[in-house]
Amino acid sequence: MCRHLGWLGAPVSVASLILDTPHGLVVQSYSPRRQKHGLLNADGWGVGFFDGVEPRRWRSSGPLWNDASFASVAPVLHSGCIVAAVRSATVGMPIESSASAPFTDGTWLLSHNGVVDRGVLPLSRDAESTNDSALLAARIFDRGLDHLDATIAEVGEADPNARLNILAGNGTRLLATTWGDTLSILRRPDGVVVASEPYDDDPAWQDVPDRHLVDVRDSGVELTPLRGSS
Ligand code: GLN
Repeated sequence: MCRHLGWLGAPVSVASLILDTPHGLVVQSYSPRRQKHGLLNADGWGVGFFDGVEPRRWRSSGPLWNDASFASVAPVLHSGCIVAAVRSATVGMPIESSASAPFTDGTWLLSHNGVVDRGVLPLSRDAESTNDSALLAARIFDRGLDHLDATIAEVGEADPNARLNILAGNGTRLLATTWGDTLSILRRPDGVVVASEPYDDDPAWQDVPDRHLVDVRDSGVELTPLRGSS
């Protein structure tokens, strides 16, 4: 299981969201508060952000708390659309930087928080690694993000034990799903945060119910129940 965070709004520094907050991703990498599966997220991390329409990424296979180079540079990385994650690898999955989210198809940055039987996913030459999350990302990119809800419902039906929390951004939009794990939203005056768990104790954080699609654009935040939800 992992923890992820997305930002859409005015340009802010990567550090302000994940390093400077009291319970941001760096703290969640060793002391998550709401994680149901796993105690640590030490098997890698990734930060992706949009520089205009260009997605840029910095990923690693080590713990985020240990990365002094990242801590030094993150305060000067600014963007209006950010997707970041810390990883706790599922048993048997490779630990390498290419297995860390966010994955990309050149347009979207995408993170998966969960687990899925690789047997229900098609083999893809486009997958960045052989872990379940990379295969799932390739499947979602292949179908297109406009069909994210249908793809999640189908994969969830093929593997009833799957946990399929997705977070994706393309520079002007964030999409997220809840399917088996936690997700919260914070509406700030300068933008919207979508995160596996709140990075502080602001009472404005709202929990997203399970099996929902979250769609964040300039115009606001929309929540829709996913097919297959009971
Ligand atoms: N199944 C994931 C992996 O090993 C676990 C990490 C996560 O929640 N994305 O890649």
